[in-house]
Amino acid sequence: MQFASLGSGSRGNATLISHHKTTLMVDCGFSAKETEKRLQAINFDVNDLSAIVVTHEHADHINGIRVLARKYQLPIYATAGTAGCLSADVSGLIEEFSCHDSFEIQDIEVQPFPVPHDAREPSQFVFSDGQHRIGLLTDVGMTTPVIEQALSECDALMLEANHDMAMLDNGDYPEHLKYRVSGRMGHLNNVQSGSILKKIDTSRLQHIVAMHLSEKNNSPAIVSRVFADALACNESWIGLAKQDTGFSWRETVNSK
Ligand SMILES: [Zn+2]
Ligand SMILES: [Zn+2]
Repeated sequence: MQFASLGSGSRGNATLISHHKTTLMVDCGFSAKETEKRLQAINFDVNDLSAIVVTHEHADHINGIRVLARKYQLPIYATAGTAGCLSADVSGLIEEFSCHDSFEIQDIEVQPFPVPHDAREPSQFVFSDGQHRIGLLTDVGMTTPVIEQALSECDALMLEANHDMAMLDNGDYPEHLKYRVSGRMGHLNNVQSGSILKKIDTSRLQHIVAMHLSEKNNSPAIVSRVFADALACNESWIGLAKQDTGFSWRETVNSK
């Protein structure tokens, strides 16, 4: 399987998961025009998208969805709670799923799982081709046993490292925003994400990419250090998704 990001962070998110002829776009947080531009930048034909899968209704995840889905007639997979927050203009394109049941979109199996976050019915995912598993976890305030079980034994992980606690504390965010971001329904800080990596089975891991980094309240150097400590690996192995460019295609391969 291949995966890539068009950009990650509070100003927009979109992730691509690809296997054979199927390519899913997880979230569509950039305008349709910007999404087309970013797809072009990684040499991907927008007409080859198979579907959009939505994690939750926050603007940084759905900004471009109405225009893009209608223009290319893309099915939108969303929980009932998320679907209820999307524009009525796309109601004919929506395929509802339950957070508790796996489903297939052409060549890719999608295993959703519920997460604590301040949205209606947020969900994150593990994608599989039956052989490799790619886990995605962003926009989550705290870990849960369900999350840790889902993310164990993944071949690739995209994991939120939103903020550094000290930088958030000492930064210029208003108090209510600091409280929201660091709260149990907010976003994972570096240490929380590192402890998830220590808890889960990472023996199959070929890729780790830190996602949804705050541009104000985090530093890539701290994230790399915390993740490398947790995985007992070299810091240079830690991938970092950028707000403006995401990251380019990565691939899971057979290890034996
Ligand atoms: Zn977000
Ligand atoms: Zn969110």
